[in-house]
Amino acid sequence: MRNINIGSILIACVIMLAGCGGERQEYSMKTIEDHQLVMERLAMFADTEISVDLSGLSERQRALIDKLIEAGRIVDELFWMQSSHDAIAVRDSLRAMGDAISKDILKYVMLHYGPYDRIFEGERFIGEGPARKPAGAGFYPEDMTREEFEAYISANPDKKELLESQYTVVLRDGDGLRAVPYHEYYPRIEELSRLLSEAAELADNPSLRKYLSLRAKAIATDDYFESDMAWMDIRDNDIDVVIGPIENYEDGLFNYKTAWECAVMVKDPEGSKELQMFTDHIDAFEQALPIDAKYRRASAGSANVLEIVNIVYFGGDFHAGIKTIAASLPNDPRVTERKGGKKQMYRNLMEAKFDKILLPIAERILHPALHSWVDRNSFTSFVTLHEVSHTLGMPYVYGKPELSVRRALMERYSAVEECKADVLGMYNKKLLLSEGRIDENDLKRSIVTYVAGLFRSLRFGAESAHGHANLVQLNWLLENAAVTSASADVFDIDFDKFMPALTELARTVLMIQTLGNYDEAGALLDNYGRMTDVIERAIDRLTDIPRDLNTTYSVLEK
Ligand code: ZN
Repeated sequence: MRNINIGSILIACVIMLAGCGGERQEYSMKTIEDHQLVMERLAMFADTEISVDLSGLSERQRALIDKLIEAGRIVDELFWMQSSHDAIAVRDSLRAMGDAISKDILKYVMLHYGPYDRIFEGERFIGEGPARKPAGAGFYPEDMTREEFEAYISANPDKKELLESQYTVVLRDGDGLRAVPYHEYYPRIEELSRLLSEAAELADNPSLRKYLSLRAKAIATDDYFESDMAWMDIRDNDIDVVIGPIENYEDGLFNYKTAWECAVMVKDPEGSKELQMFTDHIDAFEQALPIDAKYRRASAGSANVLEIVNIVYFGGDFHAGIKTIAASLPNDPRVTERKGGKKQMYRNLMEAKFDKILLPIAERILHPALHSWVDRNSFTSFVTLHEVSHTLGMPYVYGKPELSVRRALMERYSAVEECKADVLGMYNKKLLLSEGRIDENDLKRSIVTYVAGLFRSLRFGAESAHGHANLVQLNWLLENAAVTSASADVFDIDFDKFMPALTELARTVLMIQTLGNYDEAGALLDNYGRMTDVIERAIDRLTDIPRDLNTTYSVLEK
């Protein structure tokens, strides 16, 4: 493991702060080498300014957004406390040093919210401490093990609920452990709650106002149920916000504890219009599926709420490491059972990933004649139609209304389901073309952009359901000569063969699901979900293209 040794620098820094201000920092050779490593890793994240045009909003709405960002900044600082025990100390030491090398390292620390690399298996890249990010993050004592926690709970069953709560921090208490509720443990909770109450005052939309005032209460009590219910009831809003302790991935020890995060969003009018067009077609899409009529449903049923928004501000868990382009919330099953869920897609982040990652990949990997067909709107449109397509096809195995497709396909379900959503996301364009909603050129742009997109997801490996599903599609298209690796690892597309090949894959995947055929699912994933020499060579040529974004947020035309 490589490690930037900041131990000596920190000591020097303390001396410097004690009175030798302005003293030139001496770095060891090791530090210089490790600085180079950080620079290499920083290059994997394209610096990106995420901006939103708020000129269509009223003065009060902009004041509301400012208030929410102010609240978001507090939440962001609370997440620093959760990320690791020394995250803030490392950040602030680097800030205090302020020389060029410290600034570079600080940039990488800011990206990962601390001294541990979220991409490279949590390895520590700066300062002295555990070699890997402690699984319990800042939620438990740093030296506490899983076994110790479990043993303590068996011996003290009355403390189980509080210790395992998603809204408590676990501390040492003599020889034992104690749980402190978030609203007592974290600083600035009152201020945060007050800001949300003030935001509620500024909200003219009654459903948004109700949510914000309930959220203000929730922050102060750690009881989020009512506000999550109110969030699902928000209607006709331009502005939305997700704020609080929400996802539990940061707790790598038990996945009990929730991490602070904030996303301030505004609805995207253009994307929302397109989404509406897609959802209006949902039954028509179902009827046009390339399978026997007896396997098609009269109605595709209702999807969960889908929205296209732009991100104005990301803080905390949302902002750490790899940037998400969509989220489905809330997580409380008591809420989703009653109200369903809301999936929000982040259009400006999708566009940024297109500009900084997908477009360079396409230009490297596709035949030059195809480059001008790679298109940003086709990308966001495809991601939207992918989400809509998840609701198509049978949720239950044909003839067995008690057996869900998910249960029938077990661990093979996710990759098959992602494959279905991708393939139908393209296949549904056929219907839109026949209705004149899109033209032949739109279709061509969609196909070229889709093929380039397959390579983007493949870089994250075949282990993920998305990566696996993308391999299946690419190998299928290659086998059917719809995509060809003509020469020098440049890929071309045969547009005459593309739709027939894709339709056959759609039929295959839909029938695996319809009949709940576990063996056929395995055959598809094994035969087509494999990394091949041709694909591997192509991916090797993409190493210098950024993996993700290092984002900052700004507002246009304020
Ligand atoms: Zn999906």
